[in-house]
Amino acid sequence: NMLIPTKVEQVIKEVIKLSRATIPMNIEILNDLQQDCADVMANSTQLHQIGMNLIINAYHAVEEKGGQIMVQVREVVLGSVETAEMTIQPGRYVRLSVADNGVGIPSENLKRIFDPYFTTKMTGKGTGLGLAVVYGIVREHRGDIRVDSKIGKGTTFEIYFPLIERKQ
Ligand code: ADP
Ligand code: MG
Repeated sequence: NMLIPTKVEQVIKEVIKLSRATIPMNIEILNDLQQDCADVMANSTQLHQIGMNLIINAYHAVEEKGGQIMVQVREVVLGSVETAEMTIQPGRYVRLSVADNGVGIPSENLKRIFDPYFTTKMTGKGTGLGLAVVYGIVREHRGDIRVDSKIGKGTTFEIYFPLIERKQ
């Protein structure tokens, strides 16, 4: 797998364009892409797939009632962050976040959403592979992922890509 210096915000800009063309107009797709983020080592095809999988999931989460999807890319400096699954090391990252104000994820499902074939969707609508693929790609990029969700309020996925140069 070839990882080359990549601008996350440029890839995600394309993903948003494509999803805008696919997702019905009653669903708002907002974006907040910081320009000139530092490069990360990435495969842009895989990055594209991560963005698309998260946005399509967000779409399904808001589909019934209508709603908003917010896509953000920012360069961030982290202290250590605890997640259910891991601790994200302190340092500089480019963070991709995809947030929706949809149905949310029940806590008993949260620990299973990254498992291959785990889906709550009707046959034909979901394979349960989307987040398993996202997780695999994130790990290949030495990145981290966290999810925050509240039933009836919505869900936020955050992906952290380490910068090439870990400036202090
Ligand atoms: P699929 O979309 O094919 O079901 P995924 O691996 O992409 O498979 O997602 C697994 C499950 O995680 C979904 O079926 C759904 O229950 C839950 N999920 C993922 N993203 C969201 C979201 N943004 N809001 C609510 N539930 C979600
Ligand atoms: Mg999916």
